[in-house]
Amino acid sequence: MIKERENINIPALDIERMRLSGNRPLWPGGKKFAVCLTHDVDRVTKYSMAQLYRRMKKCSLKDNGPVCFGKNAFWSWVYSIRTLFSYNIKDPFHRYEEWLNIENEFGARSTFFFWPGYRNVRIRHFTDCLYDLDDTVCFDGSEITVAGMIREISRRGWKIGLHASWGASRDIEEMKRQKESLEKVVGKEIVSVRQHFLAYDPDRTPGIQAEAGFNYDSTMGFNDNVGFRYGTCYPWEMKEDLLEIPLLVQDGALFRSKGLGLDKKGSVKKVMSIADKVENVGGVLTLLWHPSHIVDKDWKESYIEVLSRLKERDVWFATVRDIGDHWRSLEDIRSGPKEGS
Ligand SMILES: [Zn+2]
Repeated sequence: MIKERENINIPALDIERMRLSGNRPLWPGGKKFAVCLTHDVDRVTKYSMAQLYRRMKKCSLKDNGPVCFGKNAFWSWVYSIRTLFSYNIKDPFHRYEEWLNIENEFGARSTFFFWPGYRNVRIRHFTDCLYDLDDTVCFDGSEITVAGMIREISRRGWKIGLHASWGASRDIEEMKRQKESLEKVVGKEIVSVRQHFLAYDPDRTPGIQAEAGFNYDSTMGFNDNVGFRYGTCYPWEMKEDLLEIPLLVQDGALFRSKGLGLDKKGSVKKVMSIADKVENVGGVLTLLWHPSHIVDKDWKESYIEVLSRLKERDVWFATVRDIGDHWRSLEDIRSGPKEGS
């Protein structure tokens, strides 16, 4: 198991691996480094009576204790007021096709990690997502179900991964059911996973993911910081047939006050400084922007600005699966030294 690093500002492990092997990873088309674009779909609708009902139902005082119950009661009250006053208004989140349009402008494709639907999650946690697969959304001018939107995103050439619940990080049956539920929707095998809230038990989650049949995970990163948490931006074998593609940057960590609290300009600068270091070792810059932040002008514009600047660097934009499949074909750098325990 690769350890967390004190200095998260440099990919020290990759620098050492390059020095010893004399090689750097080769990317398709001779690109200098790879950029893995990802989205965690935590929310699909801002105002929804059905989701409000699920929020109120999911956290009882008896089962979850006073902290969870209190938080949930407070937010249920806030959402009920909001939902009441927004009846019949076009939902602000119903423009997820814009992410596809933005990426298409740069010739890029990404991975959308979707939650498996409320009724397919049995072990509940108060931070769980609230949408179900047959909830209605508006996507690219059409009213469709969440399942329909997932299929349409897949049909257009973007990749779908599982945004597994907190409970699935510790329970194999839960993980298997969630994977199968999403596969039924997409009609294809789901090979990529990221845990919701990056909730991860290092002793159990990798084994559960591998046993459920995933090939690629991209959970190992920060919620409230950015950088090289494990001293590397190279994928590594977490288990046999399970490759970890570490997460380097997520939007919330850049902008939120409990993260770095940066503005648009500062966020772009920070991402590009990490990109410099990834470029030096020819690694993978994995980015996460949550689709619901399409309503936050600075968050959305920073993503466009980052993609624009990366495009000038001649990078390989790719999905989690693209990166993983390609990495497995690279022998030289992968056979380099691995950190001991
Ligand atoms: Zn999430």
